[in-house]
Amino acid sequence: MQGNRVILLEKEKFPRWQIGESLLPSTVHGVCRLTGVADELAKAGFTKKRGGTQRWGANPEPWTFAFSVVAGITTKKSYAYQVERSKFDQILLDHARRMGVDVREQHAVTDTISNEDRILGVSYKDAAGNSGKISAKYVVDASGNKSRIYHKVGTTRQYSEFFRSLALFGYFEGGKRLPPPNSGNVLSCAFDSGWFWYIPLSPTLTSVGAVVRREMASRIQGDPEEALMALIAECPMISDYLRDAKRVTEGQYGELRVRKDYSYTNTKIWRPGMVLIGDAACFVDPIFSSGVHLATYSALLAARSINSVLARTIDENTAFREFEQRYRREFGVYYEFLAAFYDLNVNEDSYFWSAKKVTRSTNSELESFVELVGGVSSGETALATDDSPVGYYKRRSKEFASAVDELVANNEQSMVPIIRSPIVKSAMREGAKEQARVLLGEDAGPETPILEGGLVPSADGLTWSVPA
Ligand SMILES: Cc1cc2nc3c(=O)[nH]c(=O)nc-3n(C[C@H](O)[C@H](O)[C@H](O)COP(=O)(O)OP(=O)(O)OC[C@H]3O[C@@H](n4cnc5c(N)ncnc54)[C@H](O)[C@@H]3O)c2cc1C
Repeated sequence: MQGNRVILLEKEKFPRWQIGESLLPSTVHGVCRLTGVADELAKAGFTKKRGGTQRWGANPEPWTFAFSVVAGITTKKSYAYQVERSKFDQILLDHARRMGVDVREQHAVTDTISNEDRILGVSYKDAAGNSGKISAKYVVDASGNKSRIYHKVGTTRQYSEFFRSLALFGYFEGGKRLPPPNSGNVLSCAFDSGWFWYIPLSPTLTSVGAVVRREMASRIQGDPEEALMALIAECPMISDYLRDAKRVTEGQYGELRVRKDYSYTNTKIWRPGMVLIGDAACFVDPIFSSGVHLATYSALLAARSINSVLARTIDENTAFREFEQRYRREFGVYYEFLAAFYDLNVNEDSYFWSAKKVTRSTNSELESFVELVGGVSSGETALATDDSPVGYYKRRSKEFASAVDELVANNEQSMVPIIRSPIVKSAMREGAKEQARVLLGEDAGPETPILEGGLVPSADGLTWSVPA
């Protein structure tokens, strides 16, 4: 879009299966609108998702969160999609091609080329086994959690001690739907061994996954089919919803899959000539469907930095410092929300309190929990406040828990209490801002930097500017 030459090397031949099916509005109406692919997505017939329905926390009744209440998201744009990633990713790849990107499928990046100062390009192998090299002013590593080159920015990956879960998942035909207007919502259901996602991908196809503690690995890997059925039987709501459903056993959805979804981040996420985005940079537990949002948001931040440096309007250090600070902040917001959310679960035998067992700590459960979650995200506010981290988390989760109680008591007539809860507000803020900028353009008003001395997005959203 800025006239720079882009080559995209993709290891697989699309369409290919991928996990990460529940999207957020900021991806659909923010980044996808900005890049010009939103209308195409609208035509693809994906399930519309108004929000999330949770059976989670002290209250036995499910409660619903709708996007329509978030400031900056107009009612018309207050939905996202549940997507079959094979279709969604194909649409994005084809769009990149149409926009002039030189897309080369079945080209696996094998290494980077560098000198002492910079990364200068990559080497790759194609489907026929031929090796090649490409030099580039910037290498963007978007190759996900199994990236072979992320460490070339000179980083170490830090795993969260607490959020080290396993996901076991498959697909069902004929599962029940939530009553309208929430039938397209993602349903999350906590139970003693962990939690379930239940994502309506089409009127009949449902993606169902259990996220459980890592100690259950041997049970799951032994006989995944038996393990999944036993977990479903443990969770009354999911059992009920799948009563008349049949597990898909053929095609891309035919196998049961297991994924470690450990949360992690990297000590460094860029160096001159190279930047990490999406799962190559960091990953946070999938409960809030934040993976694709963080991937597309970080892509936007990285693109702004690269565009600005290549246009010689901002120097490299300043442009990538902005990228890093905004990205870490957004990751940190979701990470903290995660801690407050898991803390909602009051059953001390549950997965969420296993922190104490994991650390064999003599401290209280909450203190053990904070010890474990703390430190992985350097953008965390909890670690930057005067308050002790335990006090900070305690207050945050209390505010959140009472907002949920109020929501349930209101019978979801008003979403105001939950939006007032600071942890939800901050998780929604950046996405809503990106959406508002795309919808309103210059009418969105002048930007202020999020960090002292920082940059702001240009009016078209594609580069950084120095604030007036
Ligand atoms: C259990 C689970 C459930 C999840 N649920 C959700 C959800 O509901 N919503 C959500 O938003 N997120 C979810 N996520 C997270 C989501 O899957 C990821 O965050 C998201 O897909 C990251 O996108 P990415 O582009 O960084 O990486 P990926 O989607 O992994 O894409 C990386 C691409 O790079 C290619 N590649 C890999 N290696 C190479 C190489 N050497 N050379 C060239 N190409 C290469 C791959 O083929 C792939 O196409 C979930 C994750 C897990 C584990």
